[in-house]
Amino acid sequence: VHLIDTHAHLDYSDFDADRDLILRRARDAEVAEIITIGTRVDSSAAAVKLASAHPGVWCTVGVHPSEAGEAGAGYLDEIRKLCSVKRVVAIGEIGLDYHRLPSQIKPDPLRETFAATVSQDPLELRNQIEDDAYKNAQALVFREQLDLAVELGLNIVVHQRDAWEDTLSILDEYRGQVRGVFHCFGGAVDQARELVALGHLISFTGIVTFKNAKQVQETARLMEPGTFMVETDCPYLAPHPHRGQRCEPSHTRLVAEKIAELRGTTVQRIAEQTTATAREFFRFNP
Ligand SMILES: [Zn+2]
Repeated sequence: VHLIDTHAHLDYSDFDADRDLILRRARDAEVAEIITIGTRVDSSAAAVKLASAHPGVWCTVGVHPSEAGEAGAGYLDEIRKLCSVKRVVAIGEIGLDYHRLPSQIKPDPLRETFAATVSQDPLELRNQIEDDAYKNAQALVFREQLDLAVELGLNIVVHQRDAWEDTLSILDEYRGQVRGVFHCFGGAVDQARELVALGHLISFTGIVTFKNAKQVQETARLMEPGTFMVETDCPYLAPHPHRGQRCEPSHTRLVAEKIAELRGTTVQRIAEQTTATAREFFRFNP
């Protein structure tokens, strides 16, 4: 068995105390290769360093949508520079994330008083403007990195959360020029097929092992070989029976085993299929 964890955050401080141990545990679980994913300029540089130091570790570089506001003026040149390292296999993770918009995270004690006394709520308007600015900043950073991916001929790792339509509409501007993997896919089979029809792929995390994840289990059961990969998104999303604990790359095996069970096949078969898909998509050879 040769599995690839196609989405890990090995640079995160969660692994500082025992990173080497965790890499060994991955090998013991036959998770032979890991792609560590950049989320900011500094984390991308750290990902490149890790991939350069450890055989079997590859990396992506990019600025995550939630970090878009902090990206800074020179970020794109920094990312471009990092791409010259051979271990870089894609731009990512990039995309759109509307899960926590400014209007939803800010405490708003005045709102109720105002709403009760005026017919048009001025805070509503202010929130709208702030949310739009936040979304526009993400879209700009997403597009700039998509342009870079086209320029360098790299594929992308897509982070999409609560922003399905806007993500697809931006990607549509790049149709036929860049392929993406929608990582941590949690949607229905129709949505997955829509992505595949556009030339993209999906990948499954430990969520597929959760009891309440019927929809994504159905997707994992039905998608054709060659359309999906496996990942952990560690340190997040530890699969059953580790749910709630720190996740690590060795858990990729539990994800693959669950998918094998759902599809009535063996973990060997799932490993062969998802590893071939990852090799083709990220264009690397062992
Ligand atoms: Zn991630």
